[in-house]
Amino acid sequence: MQTTFSFKRNRMKLIVVSNREPYKVERAGGKLRLEKTVGGLVSALEPVLRKNGGIWICWGRKGQKNPFETKITESFLMKQVSLTSRDVTEYYYGYANETLWPLCHMFLNRTRFDSKYWLGYRRVNRKFAKAVMEVYTPGSKVLVNDYHLALVPALLREKGVEDPIHLFWHIPFPPYFMLRFLPNRRDILEGMLGADVIGFHTEHYVQNFRECVREILGAVYDDFAIYWQGRKIRVVAVPIGIDSQRWSSLVSNPKVVRYALSLRKKLSVEFVGIGVDRLDYTKGIEEKFKGLERFFEKYPSFRGRVSFIQIAAPTRTKLEEYMDIKRRTDEIVGRIEGRFGEPGWVPIYYYYKNYGDERLASLYMMADFALVTPLIDGLNLVSKEYVMSKVDEDGVLILSEFAGASLQLREGALIVNPFDEDAVAEAIYSALKMKKREKRERMKALRKRVIEEDVHWWLKNFLEDVSA
Ligand code: UDP
Repeated sequence: MQTTFSFKRNRMKLIVVSNREPYKVERAGGKLRLEKTVGGLVSALEPVLRKNGGIWICWGRKGQKNPFETKITESFLMKQVSLTSRDVTEYYYGYANETLWPLCHMFLNRTRFDSKYWLGYRRVNRKFAKAVMEVYTPGSKVLVNDYHLALVPALLREKGVEDPIHLFWHIPFPPYFMLRFLPNRRDILEGMLGADVIGFHTEHYVQNFRECVREILGAVYDDFAIYWQGRKIRVVAVPIGIDSQRWSSLVSNPKVVRYALSLRKKLSVEFVGIGVDRLDYTKGIEEKFKGLERFFEKYPSFRGRVSFIQIAAPTRTKLEEYMDIKRRTDEIVGRIEGRFGEPGWVPIYYYYKNYGDERLASLYMMADFALVTPLIDGLNLVSKEYVMSKVDEDGVLILSEFAGASLQLREGALIVNPFDEDAVAEAIYSALKMKKREKRERMKALRKRVIEEDVHWWLKNFLEDVSA
């Protein structure tokens, strides 16, 4: 049954397409219960669709019962694409997470090439394109998100969409010498070039993309656009921001502040550090722990005085690579505990769990430093969330130079190469010895940048005015 649906008048219809759903839908006592999912894209776009109306097309989990269309407000519809378990295995776990994810993050030895995965990816991209066409009317603006759906822009073009199609690629885009290994490299690039505007987080990824289309497709480009099959495609670097107002209000919530104070008291150490990552091999959690180990080795006077809290959120747990990184991380935490821990002092508190943003805000706000050490990361939102949570400006961000966010945050953060455990150890030492005034100055600069280049700035710059 088709849901009756109305759009606010005089506004361009926005159709957002992403793998991840903005809400989990549950039925409780005959009523629908909606729980907003966590993530940068959802916090960026959900308020816009609530305010202006629009349609969000996303995946529907296997086994999910109807409805696949959920009316969020009078003018905001979530439409889920029904995926079979074979789709999920081949498209999501397979091509997206075992082929494109490692390849784009430069992990060639973890990349699996399997023709079944590719067939599944193509099949699901077609399903998404079909779902868009079911709701598309001329005058709409379509925003396709990420590496899961690279073929959708060209499929929509083929199906006759003439309105602007935007594609945002949220992970790194690899250089030609990596992408060339991908058997379906042409199809991926041609799929993406169906868009009119393609966004990346950094200028490096833009350059890589241009190099790939030149080398693989023979397309030409200038400073403004790529020219391909008689069309002009704009390629821009616009790093996504966070909802800085939301983080400011979280850290003024009395419950969040109370928890932060009581936890800090319970830990009863002079200094506390924080790390928050999905337990993914790209996040450099092992390298971070090696840096901490080196720090306790080099600076024994800090033993007993510093505790580090690491949240490692479970992710893609069915894949062997992720089970492996879990085993290795468990091992290194055990080694550090065994080597340095004493009754009454824990060097690393390690939690393999997913936390909500209230709890994260408390953890960020009570920490003296955050250690964010991805080996490569499209952007990294956690670094920005830490900055927004430090309202007292009394904290230090230590950030990997290989996180896309380091380009925006390099003036205030201590930038490290995560492969260099001595550099990580030195950065921790500098953070702990840093004078209050310097911390304030650095944090002020960071907060200014995160506030100025927040999620609304991103949306405006990438999509122009979605309500125009
Ligand atoms: N996050 C969360 N709960 C957790 C761990 C992480 O909600 O237990 C959120 C975190 O607040 C951030 C996002 O997950 O908004 C991670 O984004 P990031 O860009 O840092 O990395 P990604 O996981 O997207 O690669």
